[in-house]
Amino acid sequence: MGEGVDGGAAVTAARPLAIITGGARGIGAACAVRLATDGYDIAFCHLRPSAAADTVAADCAARGAQVYRAVCDVGDSAAVAEFVETAQDRLGAVEVLVAAAGITRDGLLFGASEPDWDDVLRTNLSGARHVCKAVVPAMMRRRSGAIVTLSSVAGLSAALGQTNYAATKAGLIGFGKALAAEVARFGIRVNTVAPGFIATDMTEALDAGAATAARKSIPLRRFGEPREVANLVAFLASSEASYITGHTFCVDGGLTA
Ligand code: NAP
Repeated sequence: MGEGVDGGAAVTAARPLAIITGGARGIGAACAVRLATDGYDIAFCHLRPSAAADTVAADCAARGAQVYRAVCDVGDSAAVAEFVETAQDRLGAVEVLVAAAGITRDGLLFGASEPDWDDVLRTNLSGARHVCKAVVPAMMRRRSGAIVTLSSVAGLSAALGQTNYAATKAGLIGFGKALAAEVARFGIRVNTVAPGFIATDMTEALDAGAATAARKSIPLRRFGEPREVANLVAFLASSEASYITGHTFCVDGGLTA
């Protein structure tokens, strides 16, 4: 796994560290760039080497961040522990975690395969647990930290053909509430963001008919942009949100309002 540290030549003062899973594309990438803009050093992981990951690393470095990125499967707890340990060795103690890595394997109950069920649970739910477990000890020692996980409106309202995905996204909401209660006394906040339809590779996979129907169902009549999710994530990660923990916030153009 590991790919090294980029940038940082222009860094003059220590910056807090934000770790992002699924940071190579889509919402995770937008969060990485936004947090770099907000003054964080950035460590992110993703599943496969890609030009997209190189671009995110360069965009963060251009904003003055030191960047550590690694290919690391969030479903592999040992790999996640190693990724987080290396990130902290190189860039200091973690202050913010954004758990954005996620996949879909849509299909009706009797059509979706057992491996699809296992993959979605392993990546979306166990992956978030693994990375939270890896960052919480350092946050507890420092008595400070903010965790944001990426759920979905699919975890809040009916999503046809997404029993596997919805189970993980509803699971993340419960996970976040329980973890928030557990770690609050250590000064750690945990919140959950539930996007609606956001223009990323994930929604690019929708067929044209489904995408058109989806747009019609959204009061704002468009898909959101990744940066519109990152704006909320950055707020929840910041000290501006110092009295907010254990909650779930939608960014969905009014879809579930
Ligand atoms: P995306 O564009 O498909 O990007 C997913 C990212 O997650 C990629 O960087 C990918 O790595 C990484 N990833 C996938 N499996 C991984 C694994 N096992 N280990 C490490 N990284 C992994 O997805 P997105 O649309 O930005 O979605 C981000 C999060 O928001 C997901 O949790 C998703 O469920 C949630 N969400 C998205 C929408 C939406 O409309 N887009 C709506 C609601 C919720 P590679 O680049 O290496 O493949």
